[in-house]
Amino acid sequence: MLVRMNYKYEMFPNEEQMQTLDSWLSICRQQYNSALLDKQRFYQKNQTGLSRTQLQKQQKADKQKIPFLKTIPSQPLQEVFFRLDERTRTSLKGVHVIQKIKKHKDYNSLTFTQFGGEKRHVKSKTTGEVKRRDVRYAASLDENNHLLISKLGAVYVNFHRPLEGKVKQVTIKRQGSRWFAIFSVERHVNEMAEFPVQSTGVDVGIQKFAVLSDGTTVENPKFLLKEEKKLRRAQKKLSRMKKGSSNWKKQLQKVQQLHIKIANQRRDFLHKLSFRLSKTYKFVFVEDLTIRNIVKNRHLAKSIHDAGWGTFCHMLKYKCKNNGGELISVKPHYTTQDCSGCETRVKKSLSVRTHVCKSCGIVLDRDHNAAINIEKGGLALLNLSPTA
Ligand SMILES: [Zn+2]
Repeated sequence: MLVRMNYKYEMFPNEEQMQTLDSWLSICRQQYNSALLDKQRFYQKNQTGLSRTQLQKQQKADKQKIPFLKTIPSQPLQEVFFRLDERTRTSLKGVHVIQKIKKHKDYNSLTFTQFGGEKRHVKSKTTGEVKRRDVRYAASLDENNHLLISKLGAVYVNFHRPLEGKVKQVTIKRQGSRWFAIFSVERHVNEMAEFPVQSTGVDVGIQKFAVLSDGTTVENPKFLLKEEKKLRRAQKKLSRMKKGSSNWKKQLQKVQQLHIKIANQRRDFLHKLSFRLSKTYKFVFVEDLTIRNIVKNRHLAKSIHDAGWGTFCHMLKYKCKNNGGELISVKPHYTTQDCSGCETRVKKSLSVRTHVCKSCGIVLDRDHNAAINIEKGGLALLNLSPTA
């Protein structure tokens, strides 16, 4: 089976390259914003969308008039419209994404949709002779394993783990003052994977990160809590400073660095956990936590958000898939209320942490009970019976 996966590495552009990348990002952002306005205007007038092809045509014409559009390779410039399309599709699906003009801080990446090179028939300008030649795309790796970007040059990338598979595209991302290259690769994976256990249900915890249906609890990592405390303190300090002063600027950078550190640590934790689950269980069941459900309870919403549940499910989904298993969302149907032993409904408020069933006598941690119900629901969906 062929799967797509991402590898993220830190890259180190020099001062001049950083300035160039910054300017490219602002060009892309400007293209994004003006295309968004064009789309909205067009819609108001014609009740129909402005297609990507039309936008690209406009961009091509603009390039003749606006020289700075030529300072950036055309791939990332065109990719901007894919992003708009993506957003529009999501909003059509019923998830209400209000498309907003992107501010500087919100636009931090550009994507080269092709990578490496190909053999192409090239006609010589002088002799007119047609020859098959290697043609490099705007983004590739050079002989020193540096990331080679046209109009930018070669940039050192710290490949801290090997890049495996065929690179299909690369995204360059600015995070605070650091830069990252995210390679999207295609890889063949083993479909005949063996799993120690058939399935599990995972419930999102409130105090804990998650609880599995076999009763395993996954705590929120302590180091993260510590760093988050540090961040809150740093933010408080920042808010007391005079905005724009040199101390404020210094403190702002501190806050941004902490944000990045925490995000990286959290991602690392989520990667490890999702990897472990995907290797252990063929089917992983989670509750389908739609936006509507979450908004009902703001406290819960915050903790789910903080715990990075969405990111986690996303990682788990592709890791399961890559490993030959599957992540399946189950409709949340009284998963916390119903007894996992006898299906009697036992109503409880959010503050009640233990499930006590008077009908069958079961006493379980609230989240454990829910996790068992999630697994049951999932197995019923697949017409499978529990193995444990
Ligand atoms: Zn019961």
